[in-house]
Amino acid sequence: MTTGGHRVFSGMRPSGRLHVGNYVGALQNWVAMQDEFECIYCAVDVHALTDMQGEDTREIRPNVREMVLDWLAAGIDPDRSLVFAQSQVPEVMVLHTLLSMVTPLGWLMRVPTFKDKVRQMQETEESVSYGLVGYPVLMTADIILYKADTVPVGEDQLPHLELAREIARRFNHLYGPTFPEPQARLTEVPLVVGLDGAHKMSKSLDNHIELAASPEETTARIATAFTDPERLRRSDPGRPWVCNVYSLHKLFNPGRLDEVYQGCTSAQLGCVEDKRLLADGVNENLAAFRERRSEFESRPGYVEDALREGARRAQAIARETLAEVQERLGLASVAL
Ligand code: ADP
Repeated sequence: MTTGGHRVFSGMRPSGRLHVGNYVGALQNWVAMQDEFECIYCAVDVHALTDMQGEDTREIRPNVREMVLDWLAAGIDPDRSLVFAQSQVPEVMVLHTLLSMVTPLGWLMRVPTFKDKVRQMQETEESVSYGLVGYPVLMTADIILYKADTVPVGEDQLPHLELAREIARRFNHLYGPTFPEPQARLTEVPLVVGLDGAHKMSKSLDNHIELAASPEETTARIATAFTDPERLRRSDPGRPWVCNVYSLHKLFNPGRLDEVYQGCTSAQLGCVEDKRLLADGVNENLAAFRERRSEFESRPGYVEDALREGARRAQAIARETLAEVQERLGLASVAL
């Protein structure tokens, strides 16, 4: 394996079954990075708790399983990459506490996503949980516990990563060089718009296409997609450049783009048929993924074993880092 000496860390909150936006926007990139780097992929289930104050958390566990099944089916190789659930390596929570001692509160309160989140949750800065404020500290701990130096992110995550570097730098400055400063690897991934044609594809907006859905479900779902709003009659020519179904063709039907474009703009191809062509493209594209997924799903203990082994290997690295940190901080050890 060529790792170029870099270690990648990336996490996803366990939201259950993933959709084609997650696939195109993140997962395919994760799979590709395995050829270049040593990769650590984490289902960040503790992060899932940060905005669930008082909510039912029992869905987290099955959601981890469903999401990791998607990862493995997409080609994340648990023999090459570390794949585990965050809570299974509790050392991260110890490091989080220790890092919280060197992180000024002002740094956290200034993070733009914190203010956004408070507004979105219709809470106040006083009423949200301590854990929500500390989210970027836990994220920093996730990354530097494994001494990862490369973090693939979208632009929206840049402020978090800047903060992670500041926390690592401050620790290194106060207690001696311990952590690499993690660098963002800005990944150009397309933003997939949902079937409503208006918003980012997202499970919470229910405008998504699930990767693990059956071909029939996929076809039925795509049939509900919004197309060009000005194409009112079957005989009206369509405008593929404003139509999200056409953007999805670009991703899932690259071989038929010309045919679709010509058909739509000349009104020879109606929206109903167009969406059926898209569904065929999506189903063909995902056939191998879906086959692998159901095979993995039916192998008893497959996901659990992958996660257990991933946690075991991750924990070995984590313990080493933590011992070093405790030493730097002058904390008690068995050899006083
Ligand atoms: P997070 O795990 O960061 O809270 P999500 O669960 O929404 O975010 O998504 C997981 C990953 O999939 C993230 O890297 C996110 O950028 C990507 N993603 C989610 N929705 C889309 C979309 N509609 N288009 C492209 N990428 C997406």
